[in-house]
Amino acid sequence: MASLNMDGPYLLIPDKIDEVVPFRTPGAFALGYISDVDFVVIYIGRSDVNLNNELKDWVFRKSDCLFFKYSVTKNAQEAFQKECTAYHDFGGINLKSEKHPERMAEMDWRCPVCDIY
Ligand SMILES: [Zn+2]
Repeated sequence: MASLNMDGPYLLIPDKIDEVVPFRTPGAFALGYISDVDFVVIYIGRSDVNLNNELKDWVFRKSDCLFFKYSVTKNAQEAFQKECTAYHDFGGINLKSEKHPERMAEMDWRCPVCDIY
């Protein structure tokens, strides 16, 4: 089975996000729940500038996503590529983010998996 290669899972609450996720850094994340011992992915996303803030937004938007995993990246492009790879690896029936990840405006980034870009 595909692996996210992300840290976690952690409880999706502001205190935990502040404890483990650095401020003002790009990165990718997965939201999901725990079934027995497995982390079940239901949403894949990223932030180009502030992963910590992005995750906090999801605390209030997704009441059924109780846990998150994350990966800090060097820059926004790497966050995009990490998001794409996770999106393709976990594009199953549980995934709620049905649309392919979008590039930051004006950027010519390529998806490392498919040829949509
Ligand atoms: Zn793709």
